[in-house]
Amino acid sequence: MPNINAKPRAAIIGGGFTGCALALDLQMRGFRVELYERGEISAGTSGRTHGLLHSGGRYCVEDVEAGQECIQENRILRKIAKQCIEFNGGLFIALTDSDVAYGDKFAKGAVECDIDVEEITPAEALRLEPNINPALLRAFQVPDGAFDPLRLALAFAATAKRYGAIFHSYCEVNEILRRSDGRVSGVRYLNRHENQVHDFDADVIINATGAWAGSTAALAHVDVPVRPTPGVMVAYDQRLVQRVINRLCIPDDGDILVPQRRMVLIGTTSFDHNDVDYIPVYKDQIDLMHERAAQLVPSVKNAHMRGAWMSARPLIASGGDARSLTRTYKCYDHAGQGAPGLFTITGGKATTCRLMAEKTADLVCASLGIQQTCQTRDQELDSYRQYYNDARSAM
Ligand SMILES: Cc1cc2nc3c(=O)[nH]c(=O)nc-3n(C[C@H](O)[C@H](O)[C@H](O)COP(=O)(O)OP(=O)(O)OC[C@H]3O[C@@H](n4cnc5c(N)ncnc54)[C@H](O)[C@@H]3O)c2cc1C
Repeated sequence: MPNINAKPRAAIIGGGFTGCALALDLQMRGFRVELYERGEISAGTSGRTHGLLHSGGRYCVEDVEAGQECIQENRILRKIAKQCIEFNGGLFIALTDSDVAYGDKFAKGAVECDIDVEEITPAEALRLEPNINPALLRAFQVPDGAFDPLRLALAFAATAKRYGAIFHSYCEVNEILRRSDGRVSGVRYLNRHENQVHDFDADVIINATGAWAGSTAALAHVDVPVRPTPGVMVAYDQRLVQRVINRLCIPDDGDILVPQRRMVLIGTTSFDHNDVDYIPVYKDQIDLMHERAAQLVPSVKNAHMRGAWMSARPLIASGGDARSLTRTYKCYDHAGQGAPGLFTITGGKATTCRLMAEKTADLVCASLGIQQTCQTRDQELDSYRQYYNDARSAM
């Protein structure tokens, strides 16, 4: 057990949104945090998302828990991470009779999730966004936003560093060290800059490796039911809309178009794939995104396609097809699997990363008998630029 006079040491594996938000939370609660990322910050899924700050509207009918988490965190991130967010709002638009019928369930689900939605006329929607499909039949305004994926992760990391957390990029954890009683005692990692192996002694280790969480947990011979679920993103070289445009329908392929800087991005698909390190970008999925984007915003047909890429959601495994998996998150304390001191956080959304970190830190503190509570809800994040400027960086 940790020396009661010393700060408990936490090793976080993974430098995506979840790991960076967790580094801030644990460091603010008095831990000595060191984070290990095998690439650069946001090298995994976090650097390759739509960047949609979800209002929760996408989930309010089929996945109410995720919808509630999204709106709660949407409000918090708008306050603490203003620098990374364009809060332009969003529209859900109906293009068919079945979309129109879905609108009634959507309005009811939004009330249940406490999302401020307002139905507006198609003419009003076209006045707000002249490039959307003029044949739309129904429209709702929602409090969506767009965030810059790299900056959001870096802003959490920069703030964590100011509190004393240490970040090790290009350091891949290849071993979880154990004591003879099974308790984890540290990580062994390869520093890829210098091709050297080092150890860090830790009281707790948190696996925040997203879609890689299963293989990381296997280093300690424990099981995490993560189901890597990739999706394609396609970017076009023109900012054709100022708001997020969602299709008013059950979550489906190509139902979200997000403005990002001078582009728009359409996504996404959802399928099972085992090798998270190599996800081919399938042409039929790109073609499908093109078709779906043009249904929402017809001028996409004439826009130049800038690029297409894939990344994998770290969803929690259950039966059913990939599209139907919940977008909520889960924290695991692996003490019950014979690895006390080891925790995993997986699932969730970029939008809910702060909440995921809070709940994980609560679990870690409870396991060590530490009474510190979360302080990140009101902590305005430092400029993302400070991450690279700060002399406390380990690299
Ligand atoms: C196509 C797509 C679009 C999405 N769009 C949105 C959106 O618009 N809005 C939203 O809220 N959410 C969105 N999401 C979900 C969101 O992007 C993810 O939930 C989130 O990025 C997961 O973050 P993470 O930190 O848990 O995982 P990651 O970002 O994948 O971080 C895990 C990190 O662990 C590192 N790692 C792995 N193994 C090791 C090791 N052994 N040692 C050290 N480091 C290791 C990896 O390099 C990686 O950087 C989208 C997801 C996908 C797939």
